[in-house]
Amino acid sequence: MSMMRIARAANCVSRSRLKVTSCFISHHSLKKAYKVSQVQFKSSIKIPRPIKSQRCDFHTSERRNIPPVLALVIRPIIRIAALLFGRRFKKWYASRTPEEKEEFLEWFRSRRKYFLGGIGLYFFSLFLYYISHLEYDPLTKRSQFIMLNKEQREQLAKITFETHLKDFESILLPKTHPTYSRLLRVTAKLINANRDLPSFKDKRWTLTVVDSPKKNAYVLPGGNIFVFLGVLQMVENDDQLAIVLAHEMAHAVLNHSYEQVSRGVITELILALPIAITWAIFPDLLAGFLLLLGQSIIDVFHTLPYSRALETEADTVGLLIAAKACTDIREAVVFWGTMRTLTDLKIEPNQVPWLSTHPDHGDREKRLNSLLAEALQYRHKIGCPMLSDVDPRKSFYQRTQQEQVARLKQRGVIPS
Ligand SMILES: [Zn+2]
Repeated sequence: MSMMRIARAANCVSRSRLKVTSCFISHHSLKKAYKVSQVQFKSSIKIPRPIKSQRCDFHTSERRNIPPVLALVIRPIIRIAALLFGRRFKKWYASRTPEEKEEFLEWFRSRRKYFLGGIGLYFFSLFLYYISHLEYDPLTKRSQFIMLNKEQREQLAKITFETHLKDFESILLPKTHPTYSRLLRVTAKLINANRDLPSFKDKRWTLTVVDSPKKNAYVLPGGNIFVFLGVLQMVENDDQLAIVLAHEMAHAVLNHSYEQVSRGVITELILALPIAITWAIFPDLLAGFLLLLGQSIIDVFHTLPYSRALETEADTVGLLIAAKACTDIREAVVFWGTMRTLTDLKIEPNQVPWLSTHPDHGDREKRLNSLLAEALQYRHKIGCPMLSDVDPRKSFYQRTQQEQVARLKQRGVIPS
C-alpha cells in the first residue's frame, strides 16, 4: 500500500507584539482526509490509572473554580500563611505568664468540640469541593480532579504560551527553515489523524521550534508544541520523532498540567493545618526538620509515584496517537532502548527509580514492547500502510554494545 498523503497545512501568523512567529496547524486545506482520522480509539490497551477513582460527575452546586493565575501562586501562599500563623501563635503563647497559659488551655479545652467540629467541617468542605470538580476522561476512563473551568483553562493556556514565547523569542527557528517544515509535517500528521477525538479538536495547536541544543520538547496545556533542536539528535528518524511528540501531546490532551496544578492546591489545603500545628508546637529548627521529613515522605509515596503514573499514561496514549497516525510504532521500543543504552553507558544520568519523576528508561522500553502487539493490530485495523518486514527492534537488539556505541557516535549523540 502506498504511503498516505500527509495531511497538513499551516496558517502562519506574525505576532508583532511578541516579535515572534508561530504557526497554527490546521487541516482545513486537506483534499483528502485520513481514513484513520474517522476512527475512534478502540484499542483495548489498558491505560494505567494514577488515581484509583471511579467515574464521578457528581456536582453539588455551581462549580467554584479558582482564577487561573491564583491556581499557580496559591500553593506557596498557603504554605507561608500556615508557617506564619503557627510561628505567631507559638510566640504569643511563649510570651504569656504561667497563669495566662493555664487560662488559655482551660478556654481551649472547654471549646474543644467546636474546634474539632470546625476542623471536620473544613475537611468535609474540601472533600465536597474535590468530588464536585471531578471530570471523567473517556480516553483513560478515569476521573480527574481539575479546579479550572474551560474559560480559565484557555486563559491559563494563553498566559503560559505567551510567557514561553517571550522566553525564547530571540532564538526561534524561522518557519522557512527545512527543519521547521520537517517538524510541521510530523506534528500535523499526528494532529490530523487524531482530530476526531474531542480532546484534540479542543486544542489550538501551534508549533514553535527553538534553536537550542537543549534536548527537550514539550506541549503546553493549550496545545502549543515547543521543540528544541537538540531533541532531533536523540531521534533516529521521523517515526521516533512522532513517538516523542505523541507522548508530549498525550500530556496535553489528557490535561495532565491542569490536573497536577489542581492536585497540588488541594494537597496544600489539606496540609495547611498540620503545617500550622507543627510550627505552633515545636521549636523552629525541629519544626523545619519535621516538615522537611514529612515533605520527603509525601514526595516518595505520593507525588513521585503519581508523576510516574502520568508519564506511563502519556506513554500509552502517546503510542495510540502515534499508531493512529500510521507511525512505525515499533520505533518507540528502539527509542527507549537507545535511552536505556545511554543510561547503561552513563551518558544519561542513572536515576533511582522511586526517587524519579519519570519511569526508568528500561521499564518504558519493556512496557511499550509489551503493548506493541495490540497497538500494531490496531494500526493494521484502521487501514494504515503495511510496515517494513525488517523490524527495527530486531535490528536494534541484534547489535552488540560496541556497535550501538559506534552508531551513537556516528549520530553525534556520543562525542567521538
Ligand atoms: Zn512525559
